Amino acid sequence: MTRSISILGATGSVGSSTLDLVRRNRAGWRVVALTANCSAAELAKLAREFGAEIAVVGDESCLSDLRDALGDSGIQAAGGTSALVEAAARPADVTVAAIVGCAGLRPTMAAIERGGAVALANKEALVSAGGVMTAAVRSHGATLLPVDSEHNAIFQCLQGNRIEDVRRITLTASGGPLRGWSQAELEAATPAQAVAHPNWDMGAKISVDSATMMNKGLELIEAHHLFPVGLDRLDIVVHPQSVIHSMVEYRDGSTLAQLGPSDMRVPIASALAWPDRMDTPMEPLDLPALGTLTFEAPDEERFPATRVAREAAQAGGGAPCVLNAANEVAVARFLDGSCKFTDIVCVNEVVLERHQDDPAPNSLDDVTMLDESARATARAVLESL
Ligand code: NAD
Ligand code: MG
Repeated sequence: MTRSISILGATGSVGSSTLDLVRRNRAGWRVVALTANCSAAELAKLAREFGAEIAVVGDESCLSDLRDALGDSGIQAAGGTSALVEAAARPADVTVAAIVGCAGLRPTMAAIERGGAVALANKEALVSAGGVMTAAVRSHGATLLPVDSEHNAIFQCLQGNRIEDVRRITLTASGGPLRGWSQAELEAATPAQAVAHPNWDMGAKISVDSATMMNKGLELIEAHHLFPVGLDRLDIVVHPQSVIHSMVEYRDGSTLAQLGPSDMRVPIASALAWPDRMDTPMEPLDLPALGTLTFEAPDEERFPATRVAREAAQAGGGAPCVLNAANEVAVARFLDGSCKFTDIVCVNEVVLERHQDDPAPNSLDDVTMLDESARATARAVLESL
């Protein structure tokens, strides 16, 4: 049986892992839309290889390059935010939401509003839009399939069980490349050091989030929206080997865990095939070779991001959106060398404080307005450092 697929953010790390799975079973898939921000040549190459219906660049200034690169292939080309939304709204059996940041919100919402299956990697969109997105999932009868490895693990551990029987959900965290660094070393951490993740090969933004632990903070908020248990039932444990991807503990004392290699093709395959299973090129898990799995409590003194994110989740309303926006701005500044690693979470806290009385967003437009306003505050705070 052939299934159709669209990939938003096709040129990124998650997009490439998804296309690798599609490439291994070409006869099983028909590719509808592939999108990128600007990498026109790369996007055109993928669109040609997979015979996509349409290729879209988010940055309209890259559209003429995309048109040139697609030549007489017969593949449609489009550019700009409304074109991303239009592409995401095209019928497909599954839409992979793998754009990084809140930039992916409107296209992801368009896929949800179509009422189909959405394989969600774009955690920033869910963190920012929270209740607006989950309400749209319910009202349009869409299915949100978590791709983030922890959430995919939890999703798998919940199958066949009742959410009311859950005592605790534990998200595992690798601790990132700077785990164990002193405060003084963290102050001086460079972008190259922060993106050198020991276990996962990911895009720059999530790699920095992983180093600050804000990735786990965002994932805590993501989990709170995906799995209806109270925040007091969501826990984080540092597990540097990244073999256990998360765990669900039930009221009878049973804890179910999902294990696997640190390769995004595993959770992506799980989401794409759900409720079935599909082949991946993974080697069998070799536990004797792994030898030891270790666990430790997060160090919120040196890595305060998980505390800040938990407080934002507790505050609710617009706080998670504000946190995400501030974090996106600060991470971009850190990556371009214009702020320190330790400034990132400090800026996030200051911006949260300045926006604490903002009204809760009730619509997509509210979310966009709050996101823009928090970005402006973050830029101002960064200027004043
Ligand atoms: P990436 O930077 O490698 O790729 C991002 C993709 O989004 C690219 O195709 C890029 O062209 C596109 N994009 C970027 N900005 C855009 C914009 N303004 N408009 C339209 N398109 C834009 O990122 P990634 O590591 O693949 O992560 C993608 C998402 O998946 C993020 O939300 C991340 O948190 C999440 N995620 C990633 C991993 C991973 O292993 N990489 C794991 C879990 C979750
Ligand atoms: Mg994750």
